[in-house]
Amino acid sequence: CGVFGIWGHEKAAELTYYGLHSMQHRGQEGAGVVVSDRDNLKAHKGLGLVNDVFKDADFSKISGAASVGHVRYSTQGERTPENVQPLVFRSQTKSMALAHNGNIMNAETLRGELEDQGSILQTSSDTEVLAHLIKRRGKGINETSITDAINKITGAYAFVILTEEKMYAALDPSGIRPLSIGRLGDAYVVASETCVFDQIGATFEREILPGELVTISDEGIVSTRFAMRGQRKMCAMEYVYLSRPDSDVNEVNVHASRKRMGEELAKESPADADMVIGVPDSSISSAIGYAEASGLPYEMGIIKNRYVGRTFIQPSQELRELGVKLKLAPVRGIVAGKRIVMIDDSIVRGTTSKRIVRMLKQAGAAEVHVRIASPSIQHPCFYGIDMSTRDELIAANHSIDEIGEIIGADSVAYLSESGLEKAIVKDKTIHQGICMACMTGNYPVKENGEQEAAYRN
Ligand code: 5GP
Ligand code: SF4
Ligand code: MG
Repeated sequence: CGVFGIWGHEKAAELTYYGLHSMQHRGQEGAGVVVSDRDNLKAHKGLGLVNDVFKDADFSKISGAASVGHVRYSTQGERTPENVQPLVFRSQTKSMALAHNGNIMNAETLRGELEDQGSILQTSSDTEVLAHLIKRRGKGINETSITDAINKITGAYAFVILTEEKMYAALDPSGIRPLSIGRLGDAYVVASETCVFDQIGATFEREILPGELVTISDEGIVSTRFAMRGQRKMCAMEYVYLSRPDSDVNEVNVHASRKRMGEELAKESPADADMVIGVPDSSISSAIGYAEASGLPYEMGIIKNRYVGRTFIQPSQELRELGVKLKLAPVRGIVAGKRIVMIDDSIVRGTTSKRIVRMLKQAGAAEVHVRIASPSIQHPCFYGIDMSTRDELIAANHSIDEIGEIIGADSVAYLSESGLEKAIVKDKTIHQGICMACMTGNYPVKENGEQEAAYRN
């Protein structure tokens, strides 16, 4: 998912819309904007792409100087209109809108406790649990009630909360998901990805720190710490796949990190071949890196129909398979008769690689050597990326040779864990750590709230 917030701009709703537009790749199931005009919160939300949701939006009806927005890709909770964020909670005294990226691991336990205490939850999303925890004491929505609530939840979270009077943004103590602050004139902007700032003409100010709660109001910005900061554990998949190449994640440019993944991969697993091709869009950067490091030409062997949405984010396997077929086509004149290194950023279920290898062979490719610019994914993600069961992960159930056979490749190799780390992490400091739990099985945050100890030199 992607979250956005802006405080202190008369065109808050429009800017939120543009912000969400540049984070469309983070979720295509639903989108929403909630604006505060000081007296009320006004929402415009719906299922589908940002453009569709806002096609007939009347921005004069959602005017106000502060706004939060969200694009949704569901990992928990069904795909229903009620689950589209920002979730809005109204009460006589104060209302609140909440946009969340990540996954609250102990949501079900907390849901049970809340229901035992008489709360009525209306959605199946883990985000609503947080809202109820904040409102539970009935003492208003403020730093104290938010801090109390956050200290009950475990997992990965980057969220933005809007009330009539203030905006809050917070990041989990391991900083697993990205969240940054920017400035647009006097206004404050908060966004999951920094590409948003360029899009709306804002400037990047800084990352929100792990365990930090930021309060933004007309008085300016106040930072509080709700948890001891541990070792940063930024999601490695943000670099591998999820973020846009023009974004900086934890101050490392995504495109540059992907190129380094490709370079490392070329060093570790060279191939005797005529050309290197990448699977558009997410593997282009690593394919360029592989080509540069190997000295092989980079070619455009596959083109993408840009009018088909992201295949992985399709909720069922059938839709995913159909999606890949509609979306990618081989460039026959380039690949026919050639020995090809095909770079993809990752293999999850194996759907994409299998189809593409077959497609390239049907187009006449002599050999297809699959090189994956990340380590094999063998463990589920509990932190908000849709890979939640072992069963669906091809590498959890098959050896690398079996995978090669299943996808029909002449050879297969993955980037090593240390290669990935080298490509992403500049200096090994407490601020620079990454999560690679889906590849290594080392989970930085456990369901009981335990966190990995800070990195020691
Ligand atoms: P597969 O087809 O093996 O199930 O998934 C891997 C492909 O899906 C890659 O081409 C990758 O670009 C794409 N993909 C889309 N969304 C995601 C995601 O959330 N995580 C990962 N690892 N890959 C994704
Ligand atoms: Fe990202 Fe994998 Fe960690 Fe999940 S387990 S947060 S996908 S690196
Ligand atoms: Mg891809």
